[in-house]
Amino acid sequence: MKDSLANADLGAMGRKTMLHPVSSVADLARTGPTLYTRAKGTILEDAAGQEHIDMGAGLWCVNVGYGRPELVEAGAEALRNLSYQHHFGNSAAKDTVRLSERLVQLFAENAGAGHLNRVFYGTSGSDANDTAYKLVRYYNNLRGKPAKKKIISRIGSYHGLTAAATSLTGIDAYHKMFDLPLPDVLHTSCPHFYRYAENGESEAQFSARMVRDLENLIEREGPETIGAFIAEPVMGTGGVFLPPPGYFAKVQALLDKHDILLIADEVITGFGRLGHWFGTGAFDLKPDIVSLAKGLTSAYFPMSASMISDRVYDVLAAKSDETGAFMHGFTYSGHPVGSAIALANIDVIERENLVEQASEAGSYLLRALRQATADTPFVGDVRGMGLMIGIEYVADKATNTPFPEGTAPHKVVSKHAFDHGVLPRALPFLPVNSFSPPLNISREEMDEGVA
Ligand code: PLP
Repeated sequence: MKDSLANADLGAMGRKTMLHPVSSVADLARTGPTLYTRAKGTILEDAAGQEHIDMGAGLWCVNVGYGRPELVEAGAEALRNLSYQHHFGNSAAKDTVRLSERLVQLFAENAGAGHLNRVFYGTSGSDANDTAYKLVRYYNNLRGKPAKKKIISRIGSYHGLTAAATSLTGIDAYHKMFDLPLPDVLHTSCPHFYRYAENGESEAQFSARMVRDLENLIEREGPETIGAFIAEPVMGTGGVFLPPPGYFAKVQALLDKHDILLIADEVITGFGRLGHWFGTGAFDLKPDIVSLAKGLTSAYFPMSASMISDRVYDVLAAKSDETGAFMHGFTYSGHPVGSAIALANIDVIERENLVEQASEAGSYLLRALRQATADTPFVGDVRGMGLMIGIEYVADKATNTPFPEGTAPHKVVSKHAFDHGVLPRALPFLPVNSFSPPLNISREEMDEGVA
């Protein structure tokens, strides 16, 4: 289109020509989109020239901040050298091989997960979870256990929005009108203590009850029909829910007992967000499949990776001649440009100690948000780990009474914050604003955002 088009014209055009993901069609028709034109570090600039502190790092993904010359240069060089290479059959790109080696090493050295020795690539967190969904079937079909393919997820979880990933997602708003979830996906209780604890229940009792609910579901369905359990180490879009104490250790033991795979959805929690390289290490998980995206390239390129355990891979390898090719993959699986950018991104995270920084900045931001909202009657809970923080609103803090259905205090807060140049996210499940800025956010930016 012509360069001479003014921003206002583009806004009007966007209103006429686009169907936005996860958005109100009616609202957009009324207001049109807010155009953003540039970004640097933690600051986004809109078309009117107003600056915003991006307290969400986009959608929890711009871990190293915007406008990093190292990542831009790595991408440009990759585009000049080998703009595309597929990985079907036995073709490979050098940087993709290097990235695989690096990811395997990162999991072994920084997550105590030396059993994750194979990497499969896609382009989004959703397709990584579709890969997991299909791998569970493939693995159990190969093992002669074709009935063992139901997957248990959790209410309030978010795993993406392709058809299988939508089914894994445990938020009804994403299911209705699409006739999902698929019938082989089940949802167990949401381990969010603040909202779902019973009167007088301790965190330890709550944790045990959540595991019992899972156990009851497995037993009701029959363990021989359950292929996998999928979990975000810290639940993000649902409302930033930390696992209650002891939860994952007990879940892991239960899964081991019934020969059920663990899929760790680390699409948000991977690459430093929790103040650890991975949630797998932070919570001592032993997953068979780990879904990675977002922070893998800090969203400079759409890319996902699935880490696969030896025990799953070994079955695929042992049966390969008999079964024929592994018939799953995408045109852009292992894209060389994404791989080069991911390598540069990991270099930045290491060189600048962004994992430690996320831990320190996270403690600072959590404390600051708690102090700032201590006397606010409708702020019920401020929680988080690293730079994954949520504020949950209640109608009455003393009695923990929720706001009535249909009200959206977190959207009011988000709108107010936007008007003051700050972008926290309003989440879709509970009335929660999330704060997940780039890992290198400065103290000044945090102070300004909190104010
Ligand atoms: N899994 C988790 C935990 C996520 O938070 C998301 C996106 O927010 C996804 C999967 C889906 O990723 P994508 O939007 O890249 O498909």
